[in-house]
Amino acid sequence: MIVSGERIVYSGAAAKRILGISASAKVRVEVFKFSVWVHVKGSRPTFISKRAFLNNFAEWRREQSRFLSATQWLDTPQRFTVRNGVKDTAYVVECRENLLACTCEDYSNQIDFFGRGCCKHGYSVLSKIGLRSLSEYLETVAARRAA
Ligand SMILES: [Zn+2]
Repeated sequence: MIVSGERIVYSGAAAKRILGISASAKVRVEVFKFSVWVHVKGSRPTFISKRAFLNNFAEWRREQSRFLSATQWLDTPQRFTVRNGVKDTAYVVECRENLLACTCEDYSNQIDFFGRGCCKHGYSVLSKIGLRSLSEYLETVAARRAA
């Protein structure tokens, strides 16, 4: 994983979510080969596994998607407009054969750094079509193609 990609996954914001501490707390994250050390101001450094960060990465986006609403386009059924009623924002998600492409920045960062990804808007569409994960989506598409 390249440095910028690491910064997306092993972020201070993610560390605070995992540790259940205030979003305004000051933390510094140090990424080692097999582990991540989180320094919280005023406390001893805490070890968090890389696995915990990776799980949180998907879980957080899935959790956030619950506040969004996805509407399928009538004339282009593979497209959805995903709205955030609170922030009054909208992004377009397109269901393609091997990905759920979104117009948001989080999605384009994930593609740039990891070559694949799923943002909260993608999770909103997955939930709308009755699926839970990107891998479930890919399996469903592959099974439909084989049928
Ligand atoms: Zn998105």
